[in-house]
Amino acid sequence: MIVRFVSSLFLCLLPFGVLAADAPVAIALHGGAGTIERDRMSAEIEAEYRTFLEDSISDGYRRLQAGEEGLDVVVAIIQRMEDSPLFNAGKGSVYTWDGQHELDASIMHGEQMDAGAVAGVTTIRSPIALARAVMEQSPHVMLASRGAEQFARELGIPEVSPAYFETERRKRTLESYKRRKQAGLDPNVDHKFGTVGVVVLDSQGNLVAGTSTGGMTGKRWGRIGDAPVIGAGTYADNRSCAVSATGHGEYFIRHTVARDICARMQLAGQSLQEAAEAVIMDELVVAGGDGGIVAVGASGEVSMVFNTPGMYRASVSGSGEKRIGIFGDEP
Ligand code: ASP
Repeated sequence: MIVRFVSSLFLCLLPFGVLAADAPVAIALHGGAGTIERDRMSAEIEAEYRTFLEDSISDGYRRLQAGEEGLDVVVAIIQRMEDSPLFNAGKGSVYTWDGQHELDASIMHGEQMDAGAVAGVTTIRSPIALARAVMEQSPHVMLASRGAEQFARELGIPEVSPAYFETERRKRTLESYKRRKQAGLDPNVDHKFGTVGVVVLDSQGNLVAGTSTGGMTGKRWGRIGDAPVIGAGTYADNRSCAVSATGHGEYFIRHTVARDICARMQLAGQSLQEAAEAVIMDELVVAGGDGGIVAVGASGEVSMVFNTPGMYRASVSGSGEKRIGIFGDEP
């Protein structure tokens, strides 16, 4: 009798979302993978990254717990990272071969499989906000360079002078890239991919993924990486998972990394961790593609997998377990 009363109360409350507060929420973010090693990083820089990761993941988790929509949380946390010079996205974007900045970003919502992306934009302070606008306010999925900037202007999305993206640190990286290339050496040795990405499971049960980047140092000829390519650098599907990637984009495009991880879950019955490891640690390693991913699954499980010495990363799983890491030897 009591059981029947409790269960009918449960059913009555469900349509009103009264139980939403109990629904698991989860978040994972990355600030790039690459040659990130303990003995080559000063204690001050390490502390700066850790504080940033800690603040960002706590902010994102609090927002999700308060019932904020996944899309808003993904955009808000990526914008924090775009505004910081610590990462290769927004303000801290790397230089192209010609000394410019061309930014890429994308976002995907796993309920209706809606997606938006921008590629090669030069005046957009927050490419992730523009990617969201492409998804919500245009009939298209991906807009590139001048056209994307014209779309931003028509919507009143703030633009900045290209000089906003100039930083000494990234300029030095371009100079050393060019020196190595001109000397016939591998310019990508010691590569640090600083792309940023956030994936969430929100209290409505929706999975959302977003990625934003300046691309790769020394890129030429309007090169576009994996970050704005839906299925490569970003993917979300409520039936499986949400993924954001960082690494050598050409490999992530060819191996459709983000979609492949979700497809392995959905079609082959693999767990999120199994799927992520199969793609990043087996397939990409054999191919020679450096990088990693963060992902959340529909039950709030989190995976952060990378085949490089380190990856800036942080997460809180559906069970509330928090992890923050930089180097490969951390859990
Ligand atoms: N994946 C990005 C690209 O290839 C680079 C990065 O992860 O930093 O454009």
